[in-house]
Amino acid sequence: MIAVVTGGAGFIGSRLVEALVKQDAVVHVLDNGSTGRIDAVHPLAIVHQVDIRDPEAKAIVNAIKPDMLFHLAAQADVQRSIQDPGFDASVNIAGTLNMLDACREAGVRKFVFASTSAVYGSLQKRKLSVTDRTEPISYYGLSKLVAEHYIRLYHAFFGLHYTILRYGNVYGPGQTSKGEGGVIAIFMEKLQADLPLPVNGDGEQTRDFIYVDDVAQANIAAIANGDQGTFHVSTGRRTSVNKVVQVLQRIRKDEIIVQYREARAGDIRDSCLDNRQSQASLSWKPVTSLSEGLRLTHQSWQQRST
Ligand code: NAD
Repeated sequence: MIAVVTGGAGFIGSRLVEALVKQDAVVHVLDNGSTGRIDAVHPLAIVHQVDIRDPEAKAIVNAIKPDMLFHLAAQADVQRSIQDPGFDASVNIAGTLNMLDACREAGVRKFVFASTSAVYGSLQKRKLSVTDRTEPISYYGLSKLVAEHYIRLYHAFFGLHYTILRYGNVYGPGQTSKGEGGVIAIFMEKLQADLPLPVNGDGEQTRDFIYVDDVAQANIAAIANGDQGTFHVSTGRRTSVNKVVQVLQRIRKDEIIVQYREARAGDIRDSCLDNRQSQASLSWKPVTSLSEGLRLTHQSWQQRST
């Protein structure tokens, strides 16, 4: 199989590249290196340092004629999307459109898209399901939602197969405190510097934290399953920020100091994504427990500093 991974130098993309190489796929990475690390891409992958909005990116996909294109390259910083909605739209909408066109011209079999729980905005429900109302409260959530609609219409008009994966809060080795869902990366940075962990509000807010390799495996599962479906890539569990601190405390053994500060305006209280449909349709399930995932993440941060 020949695969293209856009954003393959990024936190999630680089792990997906590794997983694809393990499956003996020929992997091409399209990445401009803006937030990713080109030097961290698996040595067996072929890297094209290019912007996904560039006509050259389209020409490269056309020359490769991959079977699958995994589209992860994005402007993934929520705050930046609010400061600069035009830039966010150009990368997340126009960039996606350029990649869809490339797939159409190159006769790519399937397009797998990295979407986000941010498409639901502040909708409060015990567990969100993919049929729930989407009402983004950031330009980032909006641009991802618009991109989803373009993908569905590319199937309707041009027959391009797709799977849309809406990720929960992804964490794991290699994540930086920028971008989406960075609370665990922020904690790792603080622990490394022996600084207190900043917790917004009372710490009882919950998120659906999913380990990065489980996300990579959901993408792998989408190679053969889930055509024309939209799925949650999540654990289906609510984990409070205080619980994350507690588990880190057990891993570190030494005392962790927590600094509670005012809740951030606009932050949602709880976020949990039902993954039963994904498990059934993709033949996939997350296998990494929170304690194991945090242990691996913590270990990688320690190795980074030695
Ligand atoms: P990341 O910033 O580490 O990776 C994005 C990659 O895309 C980087 O390597 C960057 O250099 C590249 N890139 C950005 N703009 C580009 C452009 N114009 N042209 C070419 N390459 C470009 O982010 P990540 O956390 O690995 O996110 C990967 C995908 O998953 C994104 O689409 C993001 O929206 C989505 N997602 C992430 C999370 C999360 O918790 N991290 C949650 C939901 C969805």
